[in-house]
Amino acid sequence: MKNNTTMVIPKKYSDKISEIDIEYSDVDRTPVYWLYLKRGWCFDEEGLHVISELSQKELKCWLKTIHPCECYDCVTGDGW
Ligand SMILES: [Zn+2]
Repeated sequence: MKNNTTMVIPKKYSDKISEIDIEYSDVDRTPVYWLYLKRGWCFDEEGLHVISELSQKELKCWLKTIHPCECYDCVTGDGW
């Protein structure tokens, strides 16, 4: 897992995560957190592999929704 933030991620989740990144809004420098899953995993909605949130707390809420994904992209490898 590539982690560009100060977030500490438990091992059971980090194995499923490709990257956590932080970007700052051009307008007001608000930090936006991005979380990218590895192929074969998604959040609570099938095919949802990337999410963004405005706080680490909100981002962490998504971690427990990670589950195996069998969407077309994950099965075929398209788009990864
Ligand atoms: Zn998928």
